[in-house]
Amino acid sequence: MDISENIKQYKDELSEGVKLVAISKTKPNEDILEAYRAGQRIFGENKIQEMTDKWEELPQDIEWHMVGHVQRNKVKYMAPFVSLIHAVDSLKLLKEINKRAKQNDRVINCLLQVKIAEEDSKFGISDEEAREILASEAYAKMENVKIIGLMGMATFTDDEDQVKSEFRYLKSVFEELKMDFPELEELSMGMSGDYKIALECGTTMVRIGSSIFGARNYN
Ligand SMILES: *Cc1c(COP(=O)(O)O)cnc(C)c1O
Repeated sequence: MDISENIKQYKDELSEGVKLVAISKTKPNEDILEAYRAGQRIFGENKIQEMTDKWEELPQDIEWHMVGHVQRNKVKYMAPFVSLIHAVDSLKLLKEINKRAKQNDRVINCLLQVKIAEEDSKFGISDEEAREILASEAYAKMENVKIIGLMGMATFTDDEDQVKSEFRYLKSVFEELKMDFPELEELSMGMSGDYKIALECGTTMVRIGSSIFGARNYN
């Protein structure tokens, strides 16, 4: 894989309003540095421990995004530095993020993960639950977290029509919620296999791993 070439190609392909989150999970620091030298500054990980190690070792102007499912008892490790948590799926988790952000004297930006895929294995809440969280008194009292948008993962399938209808649905939920909560500005959808469809459907943030860094090896 020519990582820097891949970064350049994505930068050219994505229009101005769309952010590239380079998903570097399982990849070594040297690969991240290659992308960094090509100008990439936003990296995403799905394990808190791994992200924390990389944050300690790599340039401090990297923005670290947590894209995976978050266990509450580990929020404290990323609270000092994480710049966006993509997959918030409960008020309880939000409370913990707020508490740890406060201890670090920070405001942590979050996205609510809405379940759009058919698969049971995918996490996320319904559009109604998202609305309930945004409108809740509990959230209104939290001073150290800010929900700035939604995230979703489409069904893993070759059926492009299905992926498109899931992304369209998420975009419509986003637009509807935005009418009442104008602070929502980011819509995180699209990965290596389906980002083109996500672009058509109005994503503002694509999360690209394997087609930048190569296939992952989980051994
Ligand atoms: C791993 C991961 C990605 C990137 O997947 P690729 O198919 O390698 O681009 C995107 N989003 C989440 C939540 C992931 O865990």
